[in-house]
Order: sequence, then C-alpha cells, then structure tokens
Amino acid sequence: MAFTHDDYAAAWVCALPLELAAAKVMLNEVHPSLAQSKFDHNVYTLGAINGHNVVIACLPAVLSHMLLTFPCLQFCLMVGIGGGVPSHSADIRLGDVVVSMPTAISGGVIQYDYGKTLRDGLFQRTGSLNKPPQKLLTAVSQICSNYLRSGIHFGEGISDTLQKYPTMRHVFSRPSKDWLFDSSYSHSDSNSDCSTCDETHLVNRVPRVTEEPHVHYGLIASGNQVMKDAKARDTIAQDLGILCFEMEAAGLMDQLPYLVIRGISDYCDSHKSDDWQGYAALSAASYTKELLNLVPWRGMAIQSHCHKGWPALQTGLLITMPGIGYPNYSRNFHPIQRAPSITVVTPTQKKPIVHPKEPRNQGL
Ligand SMILES: [Zn+2]
Repeated sequence: MAFTHDDYAAAWVCALPLELAAAKVMLNEVHPSLAQSKFDHNVYTLGAINGHNVVIACLPAVLSHMLLTFPCLQFCLMVGIGGGVPSHSADIRLGDVVVSMPTAISGGVIQYDYGKTLRDGLFQRTGSLNKPPQKLLTAVSQICSNYLRSGIHFGEGISDTLQKYPTMRHVFSRPSKDWLFDSSYSHSDSNSDCSTCDETHLVNRVPRVTEEPHVHYGLIASGNQVMKDAKARDTIAQDLGILCFEMEAAGLMDQLPYLVIRGISDYCDSHKSDDWQGYAALSAASYTKELLNLVPWRGMAIQSHCHKGWPALQTGLLITMPGIGYPNYSRNFHPIQRAPSITVVTPTQKKPIVHPKEPRNQGL
C-alpha cells in the first residue's frame, strides 16, 4: 500500500543519533520516503508502529517544515534521554522512564530558565506549553492499569529488541553500575568515570527485585543548559516538583500537542557520564512503542480535519498560499496541491475557506 503525506498523524522527534537508532528499530514496517519541498531540509524516516503511521525526525529538524510537509500530524512524541531527580517521593533510577504529565498549572513541561526576574528578586517563570492530547493521556492511563495488573510495562520490548538486533548490544545494553552519590559529594575530576570517587558517599537504596525499568509520571523541566549540579538540581526540582531535566522540548512545545518521554541516563550531577545513554534511549523508545499500541488510530488522519488541531499551522498554511509570504514554496511543493480540496478554518473566521483543486506540480 502506498502512503501519502496525509496518512501520517504521529510525529516522533529525537535529538541524538542513538535516540534515532532506538526509534527506528521500533518500527514494525518502514515506508518509502515522500517528496518534500526544497525548503524542507529535514530528513524523515517513515514507517508504522502498532498501526500508527509515524514520521521520525532528529533535531535540529525544523518542526514548522515538518508540519507543512505532513499536514495531518496531530501530536508529537519527544522521545529520548534525560537527567533524573531522585528523591524520597520518587525513587528514580538509571534506565527508568519519566513521562510528562499535565498539572493544574503546567502542560507537563516547564521551561525552568525562561521567565523574568521580579523587583523583589524572585524569578517568575512564564510561557504556556501545550499539554498532551486526550488520546495520549487515555493511553497512559491504560498502560498504568496494565502495569498494575501484570507488573510489566515494556521491559520485554528492550530484551526482544536486543535479541533481534545483536549489533546494538554494545551500545544499548544495560550497564551494571547505577551509582547515586549524595548531593553534597562532587565528582573527582581526575577521572571520566567514578572509579576514584568515594563509595562511602553513595546513597543507600533498596535493591529492586528485577531490572525492569519503572515509569514515573509528572513534570519535566526543560532548559538551555546541561544540568550537572546536584544542589541546583534539587533546588529547582523541589521548588517546582520536577522529576527530570532535559534540553529539547521547551523550544518545540508550542507547535503541536506534545508528550515528552525520557529515559533516565544520569542524575544531573557532577558524576554524570554517557554510560547509560544507549539503554535509557532504548527504554524510552520501548515505552513509546507500547504506548502507541494503546492509542486508537482508526480515522486519525482525516483529510478535511487535518489542520483543525493546531492554530499555529492554520496561520502557517494561510501565509504560504501561492504568492503570499513564502516565495516559491508553492511552486515546488505544497500540501494543498495534493488534495482535491482542503478546508481550513482560521481562528477568527466562522465560515470555512475551501481551497479548490489546484494542478499538481509537474516538477515533483
Ligand atoms: Zn563520580
């Protein structure tokens, strides 16, 4: 079966090559690539996961271009690694997964370094971020209830993947040491690993019965700098109730409804290393695949309703009509040219605008 741009409703965005590799091996089938504008320099991997047609892209992909090339995208999954915030209330360990969940004051991701300093010296965080669509939140509820019933989230997905792709084992297998040091104890700078760090400063944690990653739901902090200071981590995390720090989501959050899924690869402290990145990336990708299995997919990409979910893109589509605001774009490729007609409703217009069929560009 041949797919068109309109058949893709789910975007999967990652940032690192190993996150991209983990995403690709989750595909049940790989689809051939599709035409895209010469202005769209993103590289897409197309395929299907548990019935969902998915567009995978790796940053620095430009999401606005992705939305124009695939006009029926309805939500975005930001999947990759992040730094965990272990605490008395959240026993987060390396390889676990943190999933962004909206609260009364946040869509699930907080831009912790974005805001303004008030006159009394307090820092007020500003900006509103899109919360995940209801269908994803419902699927999260399903995966939680399945865990309560079976005790398994997705760990079998990790082992199955490593069994199926033996060449991945070197980078993506589970490391043995999960060391969490007291936040007051800093890393010995003489070594890249913790071989000379004082083990008497390790936090004593109850060993888990299995290596099955746990999943934690709550707020994720996103910022422009790497967090590798345990005291700063705890100060911000306690202030906001943060479970995880990461660097990619905040800049993308307003363009689509998002769910952010992070495998924990370090503890945001001076002992931070790359050892767990592969396993954490695979852990997050495996959870995401399991989640998509529980998201209803039939009828998600309905052409006449493609653009109603994202006000930002409605504006984008209108300014990119032929000859308006985006020179030459429509001469080479435009999603509207592929459809007999597409109905676009702007936020200020009650009456839909119907764009008549335009001739398909012969140059494609
Ligand atoms: Zn160390």
